[in-house]
Amino acid sequence: MDKKHTSLETLEDLIRIQSVNPFFGEEARGEGEVADYVEHRCRQAGLEVHRQPVSAGRENVIAELRVGRPNNALLFEAHMDTVSLGSMENPLEPTYADDRLYGRGACDTKGSLAAMLYAMEECARDPEQLSSDVVLCASVDEERAYKGILAFVNSDIAVTGAIVGEPTYLGIVVAHKGCARFRLETRGKAAHTSVPHEGDNAIYQMAEVLRVMKKDVESGLARLDHALVGPPTVVVATIRGGTQVNIVPERCAIEVDRRVIPGEDAREVLDGMLDILRERLQNSGVEVDVEELLLDWALDTSPESAVVRRAQQVASGLGLDDSLHGVAYGSDASKLQQLGGVPSIVFGPGSIAQAHSKEEWVPVEHVERAAEFYVGMARGFGRTDDGA
Ligand SMILES: [Zn+2]
Repeated sequence: MDKKHTSLETLEDLIRIQSVNPFFGEEARGEGEVADYVEHRCRQAGLEVHRQPVSAGRENVIAELRVGRPNNALLFEAHMDTVSLGSMENPLEPTYADDRLYGRGACDTKGSLAAMLYAMEECARDPEQLSSDVVLCASVDEERAYKGILAFVNSDIAVTGAIVGEPTYLGIVVAHKGCARFRLETRGKAAHTSVPHEGDNAIYQMAEVLRVMKKDVESGLARLDHALVGPPTVVVATIRGGTQVNIVPERCAIEVDRRVIPGEDAREVLDGMLDILRERLQNSGVEVDVEELLLDWALDTSPESAVVRRAQQVASGLGLDDSLHGVAYGSDASKLQQLGGVPSIVFGPGSIAQAHSKEEWVPVEHVERAAEFYVGMARGFGRTDDGA
């Protein structure tokens, strides 16, 4: 059997380290131990490494390989946190079967991180081959609120193109959706259910809200469309109301996830939905309290940008699909592109279908191919004789 690619050994190490995002409960250990691992590996490779504090006990790891070309710097970015271990069998024990490697984070997104570490080490070994500076940011909190990448965008480290590692099945992703998540609450008046006329039923109020959401908000979305990511969507995802069976409910709340497409602004979308609700409900006496949960940007990177053109060259050189794709899920890339002005793509091993699932795995070959792809990106990014 061929010798195992070193990126796979790295991925095994990463899977063994529990790094569940602290949002997912008390057993979650957060990113600290993976950060130690990444820092150690990068120091061993001779890279300049520092930690960027993001929130209490949580830090991005930033490794820099400087070859004197700061005006032409490529960023590799991958998050260190995972979703909860859930009902996955042996989530922290890397297991090979059928040319797959199983484990929590295998595809989302430790496979990408392992392949990026491989690329950083290769580049550090042979810096003469680089046409750009290369930076790795292993970030925290992608699975919750993107705090890690937001901190990086606000740092003084300037990059001119970025590759964000997420499971794209080795496809080049230049567009994805963002979201506007919010909570709506109706307030009524509690009363004993034997005298309901003395109360005001918050659940019935919410029924009016839901009718408007379905009839006036959701139905209008099909008219909008984007060539790579399709139309926007909206889902009323949770509902909670009432306290017990003999009390007229005083409160009812829903949580809504509206996915926005490139060209839409999450805040404007949210404001627009609230306008529709207020207008349709104005004669019903129903009022809603609004709480924003998360506003996130869509990704919309120009196909003409240097990072995209280079990605297509490298992909076709490796015999991979070099067409451009859009996906429905969000990633750190949109923050880099929309807030940092950094043209960004998403590229990584594995499929989003296995992310967050109880059967998370990544095709072994994907990890190796992604590692080669990242090396190719670093070695030719911004080279003026590209394609010559
Ligand atoms: Zn991810």
